[in-house]
Amino acid sequence: MTANRSPALIEVDRLMTICNACRYCEGLCAVFPAMEMRRTFADADINYLANLCHQCGACYSDCQYSPPHEFNVNVPAAMAVARNDSYAHYVWPGFLAGVFDRNGLLVTLLTALSLAAFIVGFVLWVDPAALFAAHSGDFYRIMPHNAMAGIFGVVALYAILAFAISLTRFWRDINGGAPIGLRDFGRALIDTFHLTYLHGGGGGCTSEDKRPSPSRRLFHHFTFYGFMLCFASTSVATLYHYAFGWKAPYALFSLPVILGTIGGIGLIVGPAGLYALSRRRDPVLTDVNRRDMATAFIAMLFLVALTGLLLLALRDTRAMGILLAIHLGTVLGLFLSLPYGKFVHGLYRFLALVKYAAERRNGAFID
Ligand code: SF4
Ligand code: SF4
Repeated sequence: MTANRSPALIEVDRLMTICNACRYCEGLCAVFPAMEMRRTFADADINYLANLCHQCGACYSDCQYSPPHEFNVNVPAAMAVARNDSYAHYVWPGFLAGVFDRNGLLVTLLTALSLAAFIVGFVLWVDPAALFAAHSGDFYRIMPHNAMAGIFGVVALYAILAFAISLTRFWRDINGGAPIGLRDFGRALIDTFHLTYLHGGGGGCTSEDKRPSPSRRLFHHFTFYGFMLCFASTSVATLYHYAFGWKAPYALFSLPVILGTIGGIGLIVGPAGLYALSRRRDPVLTDVNRRDMATAFIAMLFLVALTGLLLLALRDTRAMGILLAIHLGTVLGLFLSLPYGKFVHGLYRFLALVKYAAERRNGAFID
Protein backbone atom coordinates (compact mmCIF):
# COMPACT_ATOMS: atom_id res chain seq x y z
CA MET A 1 0.00 0.00 0.00
CA THR A 2 1.42 3.39 -0.97
CA ALA A 3 1.61 6.28 1.47
CA ASN A 4 -0.12 8.72 -0.89
CA ARG A 5 -3.19 6.80 -1.96
CA SER A 6 -5.59 8.38 -4.40
CA PRO A 7 -9.13 9.17 -3.18
CA ALA A 8 -10.46 6.40 -5.46
CA LEU A 9 -8.20 3.76 -3.90
CA ILE A 10 -9.14 4.93 -0.40
CA GLU A 11 -12.85 4.77 -1.25
CA VAL A 12 -12.73 1.28 -2.79
CA ASP A 13 -10.71 0.07 0.21
CA ARG A 14 -13.41 1.46 2.53
CA LEU A 15 -16.22 -0.14 0.51
CA MET A 16 -14.52 -3.53 0.21
CA THR A 17 -14.02 -3.60 3.96
CA ILE A 18 -17.77 -3.04 4.45
CA CYS A 19 -18.70 -5.51 1.72
CA ASN A 20 -16.35 -8.13 3.12
CA ALA A 21 -18.30 -8.02 6.39
CA CYS A 22 -21.68 -8.01 4.63
CA ARG A 23 -21.15 -10.39 1.66
CA TYR A 24 -24.74 -10.09 0.53
CA CYS A 25 -23.68 -9.61 -3.12
CA GLU A 26 -21.31 -12.55 -3.41
CA GLY A 27 -23.37 -14.27 -6.12
CA LEU A 28 -23.64 -11.25 -8.41
CA CYS A 29 -20.27 -11.22 -10.18
CA ALA A 30 -16.57 -12.06 -9.90
CA VAL A 31 -15.67 -9.02 -7.79
CA PHE A 32 -17.18 -10.23 -4.53
CA PRO A 33 -15.73 -13.78 -4.55
CA ALA A 34 -12.31 -12.26 -5.38
CA MET A 35 -12.80 -9.76 -2.55
CA GLU A 36 -13.62 -12.58 -0.12
CA MET A 37 -10.19 -14.11 -0.77
CA ARG A 38 -8.65 -11.04 0.86
CA ARG A 39 -8.73 -9.41 4.27
CA THR A 40 -6.87 -6.28 3.27
CA PHE A 41 -6.73 -4.43 -0.02
CA ALA A 42 -3.42 -3.20 -1.38
CA ASP A 43 -3.42 -0.78 -4.32
CA ALA A 44 -2.77 -3.64 -6.77
CA ASP A 45 -5.71 -5.63 -5.31
CA ILE A 46 -7.99 -2.66 -5.86
CA ASN A 47 -6.79 -2.17 -9.44
CA TYR A 48 -7.46 -5.88 -10.02
CA LEU A 49 -10.97 -5.77 -8.49
CA ALA A 50 -11.82 -2.53 -10.31
CA ASN A 51 -10.99 -4.17 -13.64
CA LEU A 52 -13.05 -7.26 -12.73
CA CYS A 53 -16.10 -5.04 -12.25
CA HIS A 54 -18.34 -4.78 -15.35
CA GLN A 55 -20.31 -1.87 -13.88
CA CYS A 56 -23.62 -3.69 -14.19
CA GLY A 57 -25.05 -1.74 -11.25
CA ALA A 58 -26.71 -4.74 -9.58
CA CYS A 59 -24.82 -4.35 -6.31
CA TYR A 60 -25.98 -0.74 -6.03
CA SER A 61 -29.67 -1.47 -6.41
CA ASP A 62 -29.40 -4.52 -4.10
CA CYS A 63 -27.42 -2.75 -1.37
CA GLN A 64 -29.07 -1.84 1.91
CA TYR A 65 -26.20 0.56 2.62
CA SER A 66 -26.40 2.62 -0.58
CA PRO A 67 -27.36 6.32 -0.26
CA PRO A 68 -29.13 7.78 1.64
CA HIS A 69 -27.69 5.29 4.18
CA GLU A 70 -24.82 6.89 6.08
CA PHE A 71 -22.40 4.18 4.88
CA ASN A 72 -22.88 5.66 1.40
CA VAL A 73 -21.95 2.41 -0.38
CA ASN A 74 -21.74 2.82 -4.15
CA VAL A 75 -19.50 0.07 -5.49
CA PRO A 76 -20.12 0.57 -9.27
CA ALA A 77 -19.17 4.27 -9.22
CA ALA A 78 -16.14 3.79 -6.93
CA MET A 79 -14.92 0.91 -9.11
CA ALA A 80 -15.43 2.98 -12.28
CA VAL A 81 -13.27 5.81 -10.92
CA ALA A 82 -10.56 3.41 -9.70
CA ARG A 83 -10.65 1.55 -13.02
CA ASN A 84 -10.23 4.72 -15.08
CA ASP A 85 -7.42 5.80 -12.73
CA SER A 86 -5.74 2.44 -13.30
CA TYR A 87 -5.53 3.05 -17.08
CA ALA A 88 -3.65 6.28 -16.35
CA HIS A 89 -1.49 4.60 -13.69
CA TYR A 90 -0.16 1.89 -16.00
CA VAL A 91 -0.16 3.76 -19.32
CA TRP A 92 2.94 3.95 -21.52
CA PRO A 93 4.49 6.45 -21.89
CA GLY A 94 3.65 7.68 -18.40
CA PHE A 95 3.54 11.37 -19.32
CA LEU A 96 0.32 10.65 -21.28
CA ALA A 97 -1.58 9.67 -18.11
CA GLY A 98 -3.61 12.89 -18.27
CA VAL A 99 -5.22 11.98 -21.61
CA PHE A 100 -7.72 9.78 -19.79
CA ASP A 101 -9.07 12.89 -18.03
CA ARG A 102 -9.72 14.76 -21.30
CA ASN A 103 -10.40 11.81 -23.52
CA GLY A 104 -13.18 13.26 -25.65
CA LEU A 105 -10.93 16.17 -26.56
CA LEU A 106 -8.00 13.88 -27.38
CA VAL A 107 -10.04 11.58 -29.63
CA THR A 108 -11.70 14.54 -31.38
CA LEU A 109 -8.32 16.18 -32.05
CA LEU A 110 -6.68 12.98 -33.30
CA THR A 111 -9.61 12.26 -35.60
CA ALA A 112 -9.81 15.81 -36.93
CA LEU A 113 -6.06 15.82 -37.66
CA SER A 114 -6.20 12.38 -39.30
CA LEU A 115 -9.18 13.38 -41.44
CA ALA A 116 -7.48 16.62 -42.46
CA ALA A 117 -4.24 14.77 -43.28
CA PHE A 118 -5.98 12.33 -45.63
CA ILE A 119 -8.24 14.91 -47.29
CA VAL A 120 -5.43 17.45 -47.78
CA GLY A 121 -3.02 14.68 -48.79
CA PHE A 122 -5.40 13.34 -51.43
CA VAL A 123 -6.17 16.84 -52.79
CA LEU A 124 -2.46 17.73 -52.98
CA TRP A 125 -0.99 14.46 -54.22
CA VAL A 126 -3.71 12.79 -56.22
CA ASP A 127 -4.51 14.01 -59.70
CA PRO A 128 -7.94 15.72 -59.38
CA ALA A 129 -9.07 13.90 -62.48
CA ALA A 130 -8.33 10.59 -60.75
CA LEU A 131 -9.62 11.66 -57.32
CA PHE A 132 -13.09 12.45 -58.63
CA ALA A 133 -13.30 9.70 -61.22
CA ALA A 134 -15.07 6.35 -60.91
CA HIS A 135 -12.57 3.49 -60.50
CA SER A 136 -14.82 0.45 -60.10
CA GLY A 137 -13.92 0.24 -56.41
CA ASP A 138 -10.15 0.14 -56.99
CA PHE A 139 -8.90 2.11 -53.95
CA TYR A 140 -5.28 1.66 -54.95
CA ARG A 141 -5.78 3.96 -57.96
CA ILE A 142 -6.17 6.72 -55.36
CA MET A 143 -3.69 5.55 -52.73
CA PRO A 144 -1.10 2.83 -53.42
CA HIS A 145 -1.44 -0.28 -51.29
CA ASN A 146 2.11 0.01 -49.92
CA ALA A 147 1.49 3.58 -48.69
CA MET A 148 -1.75 2.53 -47.00
CA ALA A 149 -0.18 -0.57 -45.42
CA GLY A 150 2.89 1.45 -44.36
CA ILE A 151 0.94 4.17 -42.51
CA PHE A 152 -1.42 1.79 -40.74
CA GLY A 153 1.32 -0.76 -40.10
CA VAL A 154 3.49 1.80 -38.25
CA VAL A 155 0.55 3.05 -36.17
CA ALA A 156 -0.54 -0.53 -35.37
CA LEU A 157 2.99 -1.47 -34.27
CA TYR A 158 3.11 1.56 -31.99
CA ALA A 159 -0.28 0.65 -30.47
CA ILE A 160 0.88 -2.94 -29.88
CA LEU A 161 4.04 -1.67 -28.14
CA ALA A 162 2.02 0.72 -25.95
CA PHE A 163 -0.44 -2.06 -25.03
CA ALA A 164 2.35 -4.55 -24.31
CA ILE A 165 4.15 -2.24 -21.88
CA SER A 166 1.00 -0.99 -20.11
CA LEU A 167 -0.48 -4.46 -19.73
CA THR A 168 2.80 -5.94 -18.52
CA ARG A 169 2.91 -3.27 -15.79
CA PHE A 170 -0.67 -4.08 -14.80
CA TRP A 171 -0.14 -7.82 -14.84
CA ARG A 172 3.08 -7.72 -12.79
CA ASP A 173 1.35 -5.51 -10.25
CA ILE A 174 -1.80 -7.57 -9.79
CA ASN A 175 -0.31 -11.04 -10.13
CA GLY A 176 3.28 -10.85 -8.89
CA GLY A 177 4.70 -14.29 -9.61
CA ALA A 178 1.56 -16.32 -8.82
CA PRO A 179 1.16 -19.45 -10.98
CA ILE A 180 -1.14 -19.19 -14.00
CA GLY A 181 -2.18 -22.08 -16.24
CA LEU A 182 -3.32 -22.27 -19.84
CA ARG A 183 -6.78 -23.29 -18.63
CA ASP A 184 -7.02 -19.93 -16.82
CA PHE A 185 -6.62 -18.18 -20.17
CA GLY A 186 -9.26 -20.52 -21.58
CA ARG A 187 -11.69 -19.74 -18.76
CA ALA A 188 -11.08 -16.00 -19.16
CA LEU A 189 -11.68 -16.27 -22.92
CA ILE A 190 -15.02 -18.00 -22.32
CA ASP A 191 -16.02 -15.32 -19.79
CA THR A 192 -14.97 -12.62 -22.24
CA PHE A 193 -16.86 -14.07 -25.21
CA HIS A 194 -19.97 -14.65 -23.06
CA LEU A 195 -19.67 -11.41 -21.09
CA THR A 196 -20.43 -13.65 -18.12
CA TYR A 197 -20.31 -10.88 -15.53
CA LEU A 198 -22.49 -8.43 -17.39
CA HIS A 199 -25.47 -10.50 -16.25
CA GLY A 200 -25.90 -8.41 -13.11
CA GLY A 201 -26.63 -11.58 -11.15
CA GLY A 202 -29.07 -12.89 -13.78
CA GLY A 203 -31.36 -10.07 -14.91
CA GLY A 204 -28.80 -7.88 -16.68
CA CYS A 205 -27.54 -4.37 -16.05
CA THR A 206 -29.52 -1.95 -13.93
CA SER A 207 -31.03 0.80 -16.06
CA GLU A 208 -32.39 4.24 -15.23
CA ASP A 209 -35.57 2.86 -13.66
CA LYS A 210 -33.50 0.55 -11.40
CA ARG A 211 -34.87 -2.51 -13.21
CA PRO A 212 -32.39 -5.01 -14.68
CA SER A 213 -32.38 -5.35 -18.45
CA PRO A 214 -30.32 -7.49 -20.89
CA SER A 215 -29.99 -4.56 -23.38
CA ARG A 216 -26.53 -3.38 -22.31
CA ARG A 217 -25.08 -6.87 -22.60
CA LEU A 218 -26.79 -7.38 -25.98
CA PHE A 219 -25.45 -4.11 -27.46
CA HIS A 220 -22.03 -4.88 -26.00
CA HIS A 221 -22.13 -8.19 -27.88
CA PHE A 222 -23.03 -6.42 -31.13
CA THR A 223 -20.08 -4.08 -30.61
CA PHE A 224 -17.57 -6.74 -29.61
CA TYR A 225 -18.44 -9.24 -32.33
CA GLY A 226 -18.81 -6.44 -34.90
CA PHE A 227 -15.26 -5.32 -34.08
CA MET A 228 -13.94 -8.89 -34.26
CA LEU A 229 -15.60 -9.50 -37.65
CA CYS A 230 -14.13 -6.28 -39.06
CA PHE A 231 -10.73 -7.35 -37.75
CA ALA A 232 -11.24 -10.78 -39.37
CA SER A 233 -12.22 -9.07 -42.65
CA THR A 234 -9.00 -7.03 -42.69
CA SER A 235 -6.92 -10.08 -41.78
CA VAL A 236 -8.44 -12.19 -44.57
CA ALA A 237 -7.93 -9.35 -47.08
CA THR A 238 -4.27 -9.09 -45.99
CA LEU A 239 -3.87 -12.83 -46.46
CA TYR A 240 -5.48 -12.63 -49.91
CA HIS A 241 -3.13 -9.80 -50.90
CA TYR A 242 0.19 -11.13 -49.63
CA ALA A 243 -0.26 -14.91 -49.61
CA PHE A 244 -2.33 -15.42 -52.77
CA GLY A 245 -1.69 -12.21 -54.70
CA TRP A 246 -5.45 -11.57 -54.95
CA LYS A 247 -5.81 -7.79 -55.08
CA ALA A 248 -8.78 -5.68 -53.92
CA PRO A 249 -11.46 -4.72 -54.78
CA TYR A 250 -13.15 -7.96 -53.72
CA ALA A 251 -16.56 -9.06 -54.94
CA LEU A 252 -19.63 -8.35 -52.81
CA PHE A 253 -19.94 -12.02 -51.91
CA SER A 254 -16.24 -12.56 -51.16
CA LEU A 255 -15.23 -13.47 -47.62
CA PRO A 256 -13.57 -10.12 -46.69
CA VAL A 257 -16.62 -8.13 -47.87
CA ILE A 258 -19.15 -10.41 -46.16
CA LEU A 259 -17.20 -10.33 -42.87
CA GLY A 260 -16.71 -6.56 -43.10
CA THR A 261 -20.37 -5.91 -43.92
CA ILE A 262 -21.77 -8.01 -41.07
CA GLY A 263 -19.14 -6.57 -38.70
CA GLY A 264 -19.91 -3.04 -39.86
CA ILE A 265 -23.63 -3.53 -39.18
CA GLY A 266 -22.72 -4.82 -35.68
CA LEU A 267 -20.61 -1.70 -35.13
CA ILE A 268 -23.55 0.50 -36.12
CA VAL A 269 -26.17 -1.26 -33.99
CA GLY A 270 -24.00 -1.92 -30.92
CA PRO A 271 -22.49 1.56 -30.35
CA ALA A 272 -25.80 3.28 -31.18
CA GLY A 273 -27.58 1.11 -28.62
CA LEU A 274 -24.86 1.58 -25.99
CA TYR A 275 -24.98 5.34 -26.50
CA ALA A 276 -28.78 5.43 -26.13
CA LEU A 277 -28.55 3.35 -22.94
CA SER A 278 -25.77 5.51 -21.50
CA ARG A 279 -27.95 8.62 -21.96
CA ARG A 280 -30.69 6.99 -19.90
CA ARG A 281 -28.47 5.33 -17.30
CA ASP A 282 -28.46 6.71 -13.78
CA PRO A 283 -25.25 8.81 -13.59
CA VAL A 284 -24.84 7.76 -9.96
CA LEU A 285 -23.52 4.41 -11.28
CA THR A 286 -20.70 5.95 -13.32
CA ASP A 287 -17.48 7.95 -13.15
CA VAL A 288 -19.32 11.16 -14.01
CA ASN A 289 -16.15 13.14 -14.76
CA ARG A 290 -14.93 10.70 -17.42
CA ARG A 291 -18.08 9.59 -19.20
CA ASP A 292 -16.71 11.11 -22.41
CA MET A 293 -14.15 8.29 -22.63
CA ALA A 294 -16.83 5.70 -23.45
CA THR A 295 -18.79 8.15 -25.61
CA ALA A 296 -15.72 9.01 -27.70
CA PHE A 297 -14.88 5.35 -28.25
CA ILE A 298 -18.34 4.23 -29.31
CA ALA A 299 -18.66 7.32 -31.53
CA MET A 300 -15.41 6.37 -33.27
CA LEU A 301 -16.54 2.77 -33.80
CA PHE A 302 -19.85 4.01 -35.18
CA LEU A 303 -18.15 6.46 -37.56
CA VAL A 304 -15.62 3.90 -38.80
CA ALA A 305 -18.44 1.45 -39.54
CA LEU A 306 -20.69 4.04 -41.14
CA THR A 307 -17.97 5.44 -43.42
CA GLY A 308 -16.82 1.90 -44.26
CA LEU A 309 -20.30 0.78 -45.30
CA LEU A 310 -20.84 3.99 -47.27
CA LEU A 311 -17.54 3.45 -49.04
CA LEU A 312 -18.59 -0.09 -49.93
CA ALA A 313 -22.01 1.05 -51.18
CA LEU A 314 -20.56 3.90 -53.30
CA ARG A 315 -17.21 2.40 -54.30
CA ASP A 316 -18.11 2.33 -57.98
CA THR A 317 -19.09 6.01 -58.07
CA ARG A 318 -17.18 9.30 -58.31
CA ALA A 319 -17.65 9.78 -54.55
CA MET A 320 -15.23 6.93 -53.83
CA GLY A 321 -12.07 9.09 -53.62
CA ILE A 322 -13.34 11.53 -51.02
CA LEU A 323 -15.16 8.78 -49.07
CA LEU A 324 -11.91 6.82 -48.98
CA ALA A 325 -10.13 9.85 -47.44
CA ILE A 326 -12.88 10.22 -44.82
CA HIS A 327 -12.91 6.52 -43.97
CA LEU A 328 -9.12 6.21 -43.74
CA GLY A 329 -8.93 9.40 -41.64
CA THR A 330 -11.52 8.01 -39.23
CA VAL A 331 -9.78 4.64 -39.01
CA LEU A 332 -6.43 6.35 -38.36
CA GLY A 333 -8.00 8.48 -35.60
CA LEU A 334 -9.35 5.28 -34.01
CA PHE A 335 -6.00 3.49 -34.29
CA LEU A 336 -4.07 6.41 -32.79
CA SER A 337 -6.44 6.69 -29.83
CA LEU A 338 -6.68 2.94 -29.09
CA PRO A 339 -4.00 2.81 -26.34
CA TYR A 340 -5.33 6.02 -24.77
CA GLY A 341 -9.06 5.48 -24.64
CA LYS A 342 -11.88 3.17 -23.65
CA PHE A 343 -10.62 0.34 -25.87
CA VAL A 344 -8.10 -0.58 -23.15
CA HIS A 345 -10.89 -1.70 -20.81
CA GLY A 346 -11.29 -4.94 -22.74
CA LEU A 347 -7.60 -5.86 -22.38
CA TYR A 348 -7.33 -4.96 -18.69
CA ARG A 349 -10.56 -6.81 -17.95
CA PHE A 350 -9.35 -9.90 -19.79
CA LEU A 351 -6.17 -10.04 -17.66
CA ALA A 352 -8.23 -9.52 -14.50
CA LEU A 353 -10.41 -12.47 -15.57
CA VAL A 354 -7.29 -14.63 -16.12
CA LYS A 355 -6.15 -13.76 -12.60
CA TYR A 356 -9.61 -14.52 -11.23
CA ALA A 357 -9.75 -17.88 -13.02
CA ALA A 358 -6.39 -18.85 -11.47
CA GLU A 359 -7.43 -17.71 -7.99
CA ARG A 360 -10.70 -19.58 -8.22
CA ARG A 361 -8.97 -22.75 -9.41
CA ASN A 362 -6.35 -22.58 -6.68
CA GLY A 363 -8.91 -21.71 -4.01
CA ALA A 364 -6.36 -19.24 -2.73
CA PHE A 365 -6.83 -17.04 0.29
CA ILE A 366 -4.60 -13.98 0.12
CA ASP A 367 -3.86 -12.52 3.53
S1 SF4 B 1 -22.70 -3.70 -2.00
FE1 SF4 B 1 -23.91 -3.46 -0.12
S2 SF4 B 1 -25.19 -5.30 0.02
FE2 SF4 B 1 -23.56 -5.71 -1.47
S3 SF4 B 1 -21.94 -6.72 -0.25
FE3 SF4 B 1 -21.47 -4.51 -0.31
S4 SF4 B 1 -22.41 -3.69 1.53
FE4 SF4 B 1 -23.34 -5.70 1.18
S1 SF4 C 1 -21.38 -3.21 -10.53
FE1 SF4 C 1 -21.88 -5.32 -11.13
S2 SF4 C 1 -19.90 -6.16 -11.78
FE2 SF4 C 1 -19.45 -4.31 -10.58
S3 SF4 C 1 -19.13 -5.02 -8.48
FE3 SF4 C 1 -21.32 -4.46 -8.68
S4 SF4 C 1 -22.35 -6.39 -9.22
FE4 SF4 C 1 -20.18 -6.67 -9.61
